[in-house]
Amino acid sequence: MPPTHPPSLQFLNLTMPIHVRPACAVPATRCFLASSPPTMPAKKTWVASRASTARESSSVAEWAKGVSLEEWQGWGTSSSVPAMVAEIIRGFRALEQETNSSMSFGGLGGKLQGSFKVQEDIKHRALYNSLRDSEKKLQFFSARQIACRLLGSRGYLCQKCWLPMEDCMCSKLVPCSLWCGIKFWLYMHPKDFLRQNNTGKLLWQTFGSQAATLCLFGIHEHEEIMWDAFRHSGKNMVWFLYPNKSLSPKSAQDIFFEGPSTGLKDQKVVFSVLEEKPLNFVLIDGTWSNSAAMYRRLKDRWISLWEDEDPPCISLSTLGASAMHKLRPQPSWDHTCTAAAAAGLLSELHLRPELSVYGLDKQAEAVENALDVLLDALTTRRLRMGRSITRKERHNNCI
Ligand SMILES: [Zn+2]
Repeated sequence: MPPTHPPSLQFLNLTMPIHVRPACAVPATRCFLASSPPTMPAKKTWVASRASTARESSSVAEWAKGVSLEEWQGWGTSSSVPAMVAEIIRGFRALEQETNSSMSFGGLGGKLQGSFKVQEDIKHRALYNSLRDSEKKLQFFSARQIACRLLGSRGYLCQKCWLPMEDCMCSKLVPCSLWCGIKFWLYMHPKDFLRQNNTGKLLWQTFGSQAATLCLFGIHEHEEIMWDAFRHSGKNMVWFLYPNKSLSPKSAQDIFFEGPSTGLKDQKVVFSVLEEKPLNFVLIDGTWSNSAAMYRRLKDRWISLWEDEDPPCISLSTLGASAMHKLRPQPSWDHTCTAAAAAGLLSELHLRPELSVYGLDKQAEAVENALDVLLDALTTRRLRMGRSITRKERHNNCI
């Protein structure tokens, strides 16, 4: 039996492998599912419902442009334009000239279409096969995904909320400051980049990209920035939200003072250190099937950097009623979406008396509110387009 996900979150990325230990007593105080469950579409159907009119109006000339720093950063990152992404886009343009065909995109996730796609397929497969190094293959795969998604979304999606422009929800989001002792990293699979129903994006939309930073899997520039930050903070200041079943995962309660986490006993000193070098929390933002490879990559890098066997993983020990109000309180539930996991973590950290003054509960609430806004926007879009919002396919998304 697959775990049952609540219908309200069916079309979000529910597959983040946040391990939640069976929560026996989780009152869902604000659970709107209790009375009359709204029926929502499965993720698959949802994505397929993208309007074609807006993207058809995007000119081919738009797609043919290279990516500027301003455009790149507009999508939610503060990094430089990844060299390989820029190179792939240049390659597309060169191929257009060689084959006298024009790029066109459609379908799910910025897929190439038409005769250009046929030509490009031949070219990229040959290039991929010529790469002997698996690392180069991965980087090429990621960069090509990103390039296609970026070009295919240009002029169609709002850069900030990744929704079609006519459904932009940006004006409804309320920004909030994250306590400077914490930093989130959204380690995102390229196939989740620019997905309308991705929830990781809500974190930097709410807290800003310095407090919640996007790190794209396989994008060299992004991964270097993240690992440089880890080196700077030190290995005791990095935590991964991942169900590492080979070890007994730690919880938010274990982070600060128990064990060798900071090595400092005086609370004031500890928190001044935290504000200088924050605790880094890595959220793996991808489907369940992709997340294993993502974790493996993190683990390999961790071992090569610090020669430790496993990266330190934490799990959420409770589904705090406040943070997880949309979720059914059932023990079989062990996955959640990225933003809800971040809210859950903040709620749990807030329960630590020494952290209670930092307003982490309010910061968790800001994320929950952003999730509400996203759910409303996706639902409104769905209804406006006359699409079914029944749950008939909902189990397709369950792991
Ligand atoms: Zn927007």
